Amino acid sequence: MNHDELRDWSKRAADWAHDYHTGLRSRPVRAPLVPGAIAAQLPAAPPEAAEPMETIWADFDRIVPPGMTHWQHPRFFAYFPANAAPASMLAEQLANAMAAQGMLWQTSPAATEVEQVMVAWLAQALGLPDRVRGTIHDSASTATLAAVLTMRERALNWDGLTQGLSGQPRLRLYASAETHSSIDKAVRVAGIGQENLVKIPTDAGHAMKPGALLGAIRADRAAGRVPAGVVLCAGGTGIGAFDRIADTLAVAKAEGLYTHVDAAWAGSAMICPEFRPLWAGVEGADSIVFNPHKWLGAQFDCSVQFLADPLAQVRTLGLRPSYLETLEADEVTNFNEWTLPLGRRFRALKLWFLLRAYGLEGLRGRIRNHVAWSQELCAALATRPGIEIVTAPSLSLFTFALAEGDAATAALLERINAEGTVYLTQTRHAGRFVIRVQVGAFDCTREDVMAVLDAVDRLR
Ligand SMILES: *Cc1c(COP(=O)(O)O)cnc(C)c1O
Repeated sequence: MNHDELRDWSKRAADWAHDYHTGLRSRPVRAPLVPGAIAAQLPAAPPEAAEPMETIWADFDRIVPPGMTHWQHPRFFAYFPANAAPASMLAEQLANAMAAQGMLWQTSPAATEVEQVMVAWLAQALGLPDRVRGTIHDSASTATLAAVLTMRERALNWDGLTQGLSGQPRLRLYASAETHSSIDKAVRVAGIGQENLVKIPTDAGHAMKPGALLGAIRADRAAGRVPAGVVLCAGGTGIGAFDRIADTLAVAKAEGLYTHVDAAWAGSAMICPEFRPLWAGVEGADSIVFNPHKWLGAQFDCSVQFLADPLAQVRTLGLRPSYLETLEADEVTNFNEWTLPLGRRFRALKLWFLLRAYGLEGLRGRIRNHVAWSQELCAALATRPGIEIVTAPSLSLFTFALAEGDAATAALLERINAEGTVYLTQTRHAGRFVIRVQVGAFDCTREDVMAVLDAVDRLR
């Protein structure tokens, strides 16, 4: 394929995308397939000779869409959303067309500078102080790993980078059991070790107990271990738990620890001032991650990390071999020094398009609707005999179960997802199997949300 042909096929792809998106409601949300069904349709060996694009396209159309779970489906209520607003998809097409690397300022000045401005726009949109800086990662897992590595090196006075970890004191990190598994993964791969991530007990509101945090830090110091950092939860994945950010940060700061707030999902809601009390005090954190690629509408991948002072992270991740040296080193930002990979996609472009095409008011309106419809659905389910709301809505996420017990709840979930009108997932809460409902699909309507009630009534 050459660029003339690409132009023609791109137009066809745009038409295909339009038909796909406008036809989503007539598809089951989750692919009704058995494992291996797609792989069985592909040849075992790659082609030696070039194939016509017409054939490749026909195979795509026949094999792939029926094998997809449709994340942009308006009745996707599983996990968290991975929204891709049309304007962000358009920006991704343009970024793909240029296919540039944004590792240094000079490898694409626009990529670096648009990223800086978008981080500043988002800080304002979320009510964070103007002095906050930041960068864009692929995922919250990577941003959290960057923060955990910074905690490690700050506690070791940056000796771990050169000397390795053997012979270093035993580091300790703290988080509640409501935090995401990406924290566990980060401590594992950072060489800190799972056993040194101390899970602090939570109170009745599912928040880390600040007093218990202080006790754990002091006990560790008394035992000769080195407390290094605290990861706080602002909207946990299971049930949407929030730590009491101000109180918990106060303990961490008084003890001299580095702090990272995981707001991967809930951060998007903070464009609405009325939700900000949920993370009051967050401006005191050293690092905050939130995923515009979840609820806000920036196509995956796009995870923003705000930093009160980037120096500690740049000192941890920055490395400047001579072939990457630039004359402008003192004046410009080279974002590869803030993140793990060297190569970087132009992710800021879709934020620019998204924020302008919908405006903050347009995006707030969607999130407010989602929260209101989630509460309405929850209230309606609560009136059904035999259904128990297990955790009340945290923003737009709540959980419910059947009074008959775990097996009946799991069987109901399986029937709902096999039918495919809506898609829900599960978690365990307080030892119980519960069905999660989160409302957040970019184009969902109130009727789409109420389809959950209908499915439960029909399939129970
Ligand atoms: C989704 C999620 C993550 C992981 O996000 P990725 O971008 O997929 O790595 C981390 N923390 C929370 C609270 C999440 O909801």
